[in-house]
Amino acid sequence: MTRTILIVEDEPILREVMKDYLLEEGYAVLEAGDGKQALELFQSHAVDLIILDIMLPELDGWSVCKRIRKISNVPIIMLTARSDEDDTLLGFELGADDYVTKPYSPPILLARAKRLLESKQNREQEDDTLSASGISIHFPSRTVNVDGENCSLTHTEFEILAYLMKNKGVIITREQLITKIWGYDFVGDDRTVNSHIRNLRAKLGERAKHVATIVRSGYKFEEKL
Ligand code: CA
Repeated sequence: MTRTILIVEDEPILREVMKDYLLEEGYAVLEAGDGKQALELFQSHAVDLIILDIMLPELDGWSVCKRIRKISNVPIIMLTARSDEDDTLLGFELGADDYVTKPYSPPILLARAKRLLESKQNREQEDDTLSASGISIHFPSRTVNVDGENCSLTHTEFEILAYLMKNKGVIITREQLITKIWGYDFVGDDRTVNSHIRNLRAKLGERAKHVATIVRSGYKFEEKL
């Protein structure tokens, strides 16, 4: 599975160098030149890791980190000025996972990113169950419980629900669902996704409201309503 890294850096040249390096290593890359754009991209894409500069236009890296931590545990690497211990500590306080001092060497940044992505993957594999809003998924047995009652889902409905719940609070586009569940060579269109979602909701009963439609964007698992 291709991992997606969001680079948030306002210096186009630094961004470009990092992007080329990550693309060559087989990652998908999203780029933001300011903090606002970073949040927008994060909310509209499934991102596996964020490389976040601190000094940014619009919204600085601290604010971006803080806001993302309210909705997600995505690994974040902060780019801090060399020898600025306060910056590093503040980053950790705000929930960053790691930091790299600027100017950095791409191989070092890559090594840090890889390590975080691996531990994220391990965590995902270790978690046998995922629960939110009365819905509980047990991955080894591929069973779903809704308010304690067994809920029988098709393979596809299960995959959709699991993917939305893993990314709860984040808008997932139909294209993302298609890519994650059926792969890139899927022949079909948005209506296929819509009908699976409809069936899934019918089975979730009163809990269906947590699978929210975001007009013209996609879907989102909303924990609190
Ligand atoms: Ca900067």
